[in-house]
Amino acid sequence: MADGTQFAFTPEVEAATHTLWNKVQKHVTPMEWRLQAPLIAEINRLKREKNAVILAHNYMTPEIFHGVGDYVGDSLGLAKEAAKSDAAVIVQAGVHFMAETSKILSPEKKVLIPDLLAGCSLASSITGADVRLIKQRYPGLPVVTYVNTTADVKAETDICCTSANAVQVVEHVAREWGVDRVILIPDEFLARNVARQTNVGIIAWQGRCEVHERFTAADILELREAYPEAQILAHPECPAEVLEVSDFAGSTAAMSDFVLNRKPKQVVLITECSMADNVACDATETEFVRPCNLCPHMKRISLQNIYEALLHDRYEVTVDPAIADRARLAVQRMVDMPPPAVPARYDLVKARHHVDVELI
Ligand code: SF4
Repeated sequence: MADGTQFAFTPEVEAATHTLWNKVQKHVTPMEWRLQAPLIAEINRLKREKNAVILAHNYMTPEIFHGVGDYVGDSLGLAKEAAKSDAAVIVQAGVHFMAETSKILSPEKKVLIPDLLAGCSLASSITGADVRLIKQRYPGLPVVTYVNTTADVKAETDICCTSANAVQVVEHVAREWGVDRVILIPDEFLARNVARQTNVGIIAWQGRCEVHERFTAADILELREAYPEAQILAHPECPAEVLEVSDFAGSTAAMSDFVLNRKPKQVVLITECSMADNVACDATETEFVRPCNLCPHMKRISLQNIYEALLHDRYEVTVDPAIADRARLAVQRMVDMPPPAVPARYDLVKARHHVDVELI
């Protein structure tokens, strides 16, 4: 039997996972833990046996994020760890474009994704052929691509960015190329939010994150009325109107940093549901209000299919070497940029200034 249910909740497993249980017990029931703890112990054993590491995105559920993730964080942090790691195998606890990015940066490693259908609405909104057409329409302008894209889109790109460094990348590339406009694709809302932070003109694509596009300014105002003491933190993939009425805006890393360092009494994270659960495991002094949206793609990843991925070496993610070589240049240019001293935040005063964005 290879479905993971054969592992018993023995006293040894209980002892080995006791510290972790203390951390996640507000988010996992004791019944669930009796099934999860043996799988966590077995996954961690298999990782050692196979010289594997697990890269777990902030939107993984707490038993994955805290239980089996060797490197945890946002897509920029994970891409960097994938490149530095000397493990033979990488299991991407995240979505397919993240596994492709790991493979692009670590072509000699075996990269596995536990479910091949773990996609992304942003990544599927644009193709390499679309980017070639955009470049024909705007010759001489640099293409900045959000990391939430497929390898063939990255291959057509000058430099990648994440929500943590998008403003920095746009200003850097505009300076380097001596231009006053930059193509920033595919997330329309990220592009609109970046445009409000910089004097560089932005040309955007109409891609959307299906999780963040659902939040509205009316949602935030209702929350504010119901929880007047709460700090409201929004992700820049949300519509600009949401950022305008929030207290803070930044990447998942910046949100996490805000909560852990400032220790607000009450907080609302306007992003994917598991993010709040994962930060709450460490931010024990803060109360979390949870009006979140689930990402159906991230939620395809489970302890069970991570275990099966390690056991059966599946599903291997490959990238055509010719595409990978070109995509690597774009990702590497981003990785090589100096990291911000603290995770970048979006200036909310600037966020309230309306700026025209040219939509392709
Ligand atoms: S949360 Fe949005 S951007 Fe992230 S994987 Fe899901 S659909 Fe894609």
